[in-house]
Amino acid sequence: MRFQHLIEKKRDGHELTDAELEFFIHGYVGKNIPDYQAAAFLMATFFRGMSFRETVALTRLMRDSGEVVDLSEIPGIKVDKHSTGGVGDKISLILAPVVAAAGVPVPMISGRSLAHTGGTLDKLESIPGFRTNLGLKQFARLIQKNNACLIGQTRSICPADRLIYALRDTTGTVPSLPLICASILSKKLAEGINALVLDVKIGNGAIFEKNNEGEELARQLIRVAGEFNMPAVALLTDMSQPLGQAIGNWLEVLEGIEVLRGGGPQDIRELTLALAGHMLLLGKKVETVHEGYKRAQEVLDSGAAWEKFVAIIEAQSGEVKFVEKPERYPKPKYRRQIEAQRTGWISAINARRLGKISMTLGAGRRTLKDKIDYTAGLYVEKKVGDAVTESEPLLRAQSSAMKITEDIESELRSCFTMSEQPVQPPALLRGVLDAQGMKPAPELF
Ligand code: URA
Repeated sequence: MRFQHLIEKKRDGHELTDAELEFFIHGYVGKNIPDYQAAAFLMATFFRGMSFRETVALTRLMRDSGEVVDLSEIPGIKVDKHSTGGVGDKISLILAPVVAAAGVPVPMISGRSLAHTGGTLDKLESIPGFRTNLGLKQFARLIQKNNACLIGQTRSICPADRLIYALRDTTGTVPSLPLICASILSKKLAEGINALVLDVKIGNGAIFEKNNEGEELARQLIRVAGEFNMPAVALLTDMSQPLGQAIGNWLEVLEGIEVLRGGGPQDIRELTLALAGHMLLLGKKVETVHEGYKRAQEVLDSGAAWEKFVAIIEAQSGEVKFVEKPERYPKPKYRRQIEAQRTGWISAINARRLGKISMTLGAGRRTLKDKIDYTAGLYVEKKVGDAVTESEPLLRAQSSAMKITEDIESELRSCFTMSEQPVQPPALLRGVLDAQGMKPAPELF
C-alpha cells in the first residue's frame, strides 16, 4: 500500500477500507508517514468527510493505537464529561469534584488548548506543582482514592490522537465532523469509562457556530459511542459568548475556586449542575436528572465538592496553598482595563476573537514547544444583555508575556457590540440529545 494513493482516494471522495485506515494510523504513529502527507490526508478528509463506517473504524484504530485503561476493579459506573471546546470553559475543574463527591468515579483524560479554546490540562498546570502526566497505575489508584483523577494523554494512551490533534491544530483541519468524533471518542473509550456526558458547544466561540452543525456533531458522537456500547448523552449549550467571566489559565482556575466556594458566575454554576445531574443519572446514583441536579447542588453548597477539589489537587502534587490562598499567586506584569465608549446594552460578544487575543497575550501556544504564561488572560465584566454606561469597564486584560498596547485595547473593544435597545441574553441550554432523540433543555433551575 502507498499512502499517496490513500490521500488521492480520499481526495476523490471514496470510502477507505478498515485496512487502509489502519495503514494511516499505524504509519503515522510509527513515523513512517511524514507530517506533510498526514496533513494532506486530513485536509482531504476535512473536505470529503467520512462515512459512518469509516468514522467508527477510525475511532477504534485511534483508541487501540495505545493502551486501553482497565478500571473494572474500581466499583461503580465510571462516568466522564467531554466538552467540544469553548472560550472560558472551565467546567471540568468544578464538575469532576462535584460528581466525585456525589459518589460517581470520574476518570478524566483532558486535552490542551486547541485553536482559540483553552484546555483543561493547561488550566490545571497553572497550579504550581500539579502533575497531569501520571502513569496509568497511579491514575487508577487515585480514582480509587478520591473518585477522580485528571490527567493528560500519556504516551501510552491514544498516541494517534495526540499526534493528529496537534497536526490538525496547525493545518486548519479542526472543524471536521469525523475527525472530531474519532478524536473525542477514542480518548474517552481508552480511559476505561462506562458512560459519557458530552457538552456540545454551539456559537461563535465553539468549533461549530450553527445549531444544525452542533446537533449533527452530537448525533454522530452518540451514534458512534453506541457502536462501542457506551451510553452517551449530549447537552447542546450556548457558546455565543464566553462562559463565565474568566478566560486564561489561572484566571479560570480562580473562577472555578469561586464556584466551588459557593460564589462565581451563575452560568458556570448552572451548567456544572446540569452536566452533573446527567452524570449522576448515568452513574445510577439517582433516578432522574432533576434528582441528580439537586444532589450536585447539595455537594456544591455543603463544601463537599470544594474539599474533594483540594484532595484532588493535593493527590496530584499541586501546591494547595495557592488554591486555598489564591492571593499568593504571582501577579501579572501588565494589566489594562477596557472601557465602554458609549451607553447602551451589550448585544453580542465575539468569544472566538477574545479567545484568540487571550492566546496571543500568552494563555496559549503557537507551537507545541511554546511556554504558556499562566497569568495571561481576560476578565469579561459585561455579558450579553447587560446594561452599560459610558466609561464603565467592559473587560480587563492581563499578561506577563507582553504589554497590552492600544492596538490590543481597540481590538478587545471591537469584540463587544452594543445596542441602544435592551437585549435578551441567550439561553444557556439549547437541548439534550440521547440515543432516543432530541429533548428540550430541562427546566432545572
Ligand atoms: N476536542 C477533542 O478532543 N478533539 C477534537 O477534535 C475537538 C475537540
